[in-house]
Amino acid sequence: MIFPLIDPFQRRVRDLRISITDRCNFRCTYCMPDEGMVWQPREDLLTYEEIERVARICVTRWGFTGIRLTGGEPTVRADLATLVEKLAGLGVDLAMTTNGATLGLLAPRLRQAGLRRVTVSCDSLRQERFASITHRDALHRVLDGIGAAVAAGLAPVKVNCVLMRGVNDDEILDFAAFGRANGVVVRFIEFMPLDAQGAWTAETVVTYDEVVRTIDAVYPLDPVAGRGSEPAERFVYRDGGGEVGVIASVTRNFCGSCDRVRLTADGQFRNCLFAVRETDLRAVLRSGGSDDDVARAIEADVGMKWAGHAIGRVTFIRPQRSMSQIGG
Ligand code: SAM
Ligand code: SF4
Repeated sequence: MIFPLIDPFQRRVRDLRISITDRCNFRCTYCMPDEGMVWQPREDLLTYEEIERVARICVTRWGFTGIRLTGGEPTVRADLATLVEKLAGLGVDLAMTTNGATLGLLAPRLRQAGLRRVTVSCDSLRQERFASITHRDALHRVLDGIGAAVAAGLAPVKVNCVLMRGVNDDEILDFAAFGRANGVVVRFIEFMPLDAQGAWTAETVVTYDEVVRTIDAVYPLDPVAGRGSEPAERFVYRDGGGEVGVIASVTRNFCGSCDRVRLTADGQFRNCLFAVRETDLRAVLRSGGSDDDVARAIEADVGMKWAGHAIGRVTFIRPQRSMSQIGG
C-alpha cells in the first residue's frame, strides 16, 4: 500500500537525489575548496545495495516518482551501469547530473542500463575560462559528452550553467545560442551560497530578471505555464527554437513547492539542500535495521522539513558541507 509522504507544510515529498560519491575529476571554484578536500573513506560510502534499498523503500512505501544520481561526480564511481540497472527496475524517472567529461564513453551503456535523462553542468563555452573555473582543460570532452548524450537518446538533455558576476555573466546569449543550435535545454542557475570558498555575496548573483531580459531582447521568449514542483522556470523561444530555463534559487525561491529530499554518499539523509542537520541512515542500515526502521528514520526527518531556506536573511546558516558533498 502506498501512502504519500507529506512534510509539515503539506508538501508531498517524492523526489530523491542521491549523491553516490563525494569524489570528482573536476574542482570547480564555486563548488569545492581549492585545496584541502579530503575524500570520504570508501568504506563510509553506501554500497549500491544500500542505495537501492533506500530508493526502493521510498518508491514502494511513498510512491516516489523521481530519482536523480549526483555527486561529486557520479561517473567516477566504478561500474555505474550496475547501479543504474538496479534503480531503473523501480520504474521511476531516473536521471543523472554530471560534469559530462566521460559521457562520450558512457552515454550508450547508461541509456541501455535504463537511465532516462541527463543534466550536464557547463559554465563556460570558452576553453580558457572553462579550464580556470573547473581546473581542467576539458571543455572539448564535455561538449563531446553532450553530443553523445543527445545521440544516445538521454532526452531531454539539459545543460546547467551557474552564472557568476564578473566570471561568466557575458555568456548568457552564447549559451542560449548553443542550446538552440544543439537541441538541448539550457538552464541558468543563480549562484548559491554553498560555495566552498565562501566567495558568495548577493552581488555575485546574476538574477533571473537579468537573464530573462537579456535573452528575450534577442530571442523573444514565452513562459511555459504549469511549473509544478520543478525548480526551473521554463520558457520557449517564440520562433520555435526550443526551450530554456532559469533556476532562481536565490531571488525567486521555489521552496513552497519543493518535493525533494537528499541522500549523501556517506548515507546521511537531508530534507533540504540547505539543511544544517542530517539523519544517519547508514547507521540504521548497518546496524541491522529493518525496512520499517529505515522508513521511520526518513519520516522523522521529513517531519522536520522547514518552510524554506533563508538566503539573504540574518537567520541563514551555511551548511557545513560543500555543494560537492551534498550533490546539488
Ligand atoms: N559533478 C556533477 C555536476 O557538476 O553536474 C554533479 C554534482 S554538482 C555539485 C551538481 C550541480 O550543482 C551542478 O550543476 C553545479 O553547477 C551545481 N552547483 C555547485 N555549486 C553551486 C553553487 N554554489 N551555486 C549553484 N549551483 C551550484
Ligand atoms: Fe565536481 Fe560537479 Fe562540483 Fe564541478 S560542480 S567540482 S564537476 S561536483
